[in-house]
Amino acid sequence: MLPDYRVRQRDYLLEISRALTSRLNLSEVLRLILQQATDMLNGQAALIALVEPDARYTIRQSYGIPQPLLDQLRPILQRTENVDEAVTALERNLVAIAESVGLGFWEVVSLPLKVEGDEFLGALYVFRIRGGGFSRDDRRILQSFADQAAIAVNNARLYEQLTHEKRRLDAILEFSADGVVIMDGAHRIQMFNRAMSNLIGVPAAEAIGKKFEEVLVLKNKRAGTTLEEAEAKGWPMVGTSPTLFVEGDLQRRGGGVISVEITFAALLNREGRLVNIIADVHDLTRFRAAEEMKATFISAVSHELKTPVALIKGYASTLRRADAQWDEATVRESLKVIEEEADHLAELIENLLDASRAQAGNFKLTPVELDIDDLVVRVAKKFEAQTRSHKVIADIASDMPLVFADEARITQVLSNLISNAVKYSPPGSEIRITGRATPNEVIITVADQGIGVPPEERSKIFERFYRSENAIRRGTPGAGLGLYLSKAIVEAHGGRIWVEGNDDGQPGSRFSFSLPRAA
Ligand code: ADP
Repeated sequence: MLPDYRVRQRDYLLEISRALTSRLNLSEVLRLILQQATDMLNGQAALIALVEPDARYTIRQSYGIPQPLLDQLRPILQRTENVDEAVTALERNLVAIAESVGLGFWEVVSLPLKVEGDEFLGALYVFRIRGGGFSRDDRRILQSFADQAAIAVNNARLYEQLTHEKRRLDAILEFSADGVVIMDGAHRIQMFNRAMSNLIGVPAAEAIGKKFEEVLVLKNKRAGTTLEEAEAKGWPMVGTSPTLFVEGDLQRRGGGVISVEITFAALLNREGRLVNIIADVHDLTRFRAAEEMKATFISAVSHELKTPVALIKGYASTLRRADAQWDEATVRESLKVIEEEADHLAELIENLLDASRAQAGNFKLTPVELDIDDLVVRVAKKFEAQTRSHKVIADIASDMPLVFADEARITQVLSNLISNAVKYSPPGSEIRITGRATPNEVIITVADQGIGVPPEERSKIFERFYRSENAIRRGTPGAGLGLYLSKAIVEAHGGRIWVEGNDDGQPGSRFSFSLPRAA
């Protein structure tokens, strides 16, 4: 017959193996190990120290150990350089400290926790009455307990790592800027991230469990292969590329479509069976807008370039005709046109360069204290002299507060607004420039009696190359750069620019911009 305590040890061992291996929560596993080990060894207290992933040796859990004792141990471990040193330091100090707190007649039994390949996970320390004595059997039982404990600690740690890793992946997927959908082999949606919900306006809770094709309805395929087409050819098995892509428009809930590129990747198990299909949905709206802008740019700019070049060429070749004799007045008139058109070209090129500087946030300003009413009067006079077709009136008080601004750039803004007013309003009509001051700003307004800007276009006309349908239809020349540049200039000064309709329902528009007052 086994002595009573042996039976108890065996029972413990069995119980603990069962209990330990069924648990995956590390602190629960550690608590159980400590409790059982203390019990088995008739001990009074115990602690577990583990080698952490960052290679530090730390006390992870204790049982029955007074707090002051723990407080003395922690700094010792922090000071040690490597694990071996830390293990020895801990052992040495446990005995000494036990004595100093009045546990003098106790001894410390330490059991290393090791797993396959002799990897040292940490150690278990149990305080018990000195001289209890250990038989060889005792040691064997204790060692198998420690082995079980090590396996349980290792499992719990791996599980902890796995959970952490899963949480990290979930977070990456959830917060990815692209829409991500994970489905099973039969296309049933299992995961549907936030970006995906936003793209097509379908909440995840509604999408999960439904078929991919039912939720992501692809229209106007532009390039690539759809999932069905690829699967009909055996994807992802026989000799097909593991990733697929398709480009087209997805239908949005509540109407409209969104231009996307979808990449599919297949996840196979070890046997090569399809487990999951992962779809990454990339929003191409901005890309399409950029493409469109490029096309608009090329057509607007080439048109704008062609007109002056054609005029220059026409006048130059006429003057050059060998069979003709031109009187001096005609020659002068022709050269004047050539010069004006060359200036026009230079201005367009300068505007293009400015636009690219503005886009790069590279506007250099030389602001000074500027007399804005004086500037408005000068620019208006210049236009009045040039255009004749319109009445350009500077209706501004001569005691406006000074602004802090770059004179050449503000002249450019005023010129853009006035020349637009001229371009987009009928001959004979009036263009009035007014100014008012607020405590911090000066606001200048250019009002015309022209075609006006429909409310839905009022924010768009400040975009690069944007020209309203209205302007294009009427054949009014322009590259769609003037307002974009004016906005960039005003904003670089810390001001704003906007457009309104004429109050009182009269035709025309009112363009205003603000500039900060000089301190
Ligand atoms: P552009 O005049 O070269 O086309 P802008 O950037 O100066 O370029 O103007 C952008 C668009 O804003 C114009 O094409 C036109 O549709 C509209 N717009 C600008 N000023 C006026 C105005 N005073 N009245 C009506 N529409 C205007």
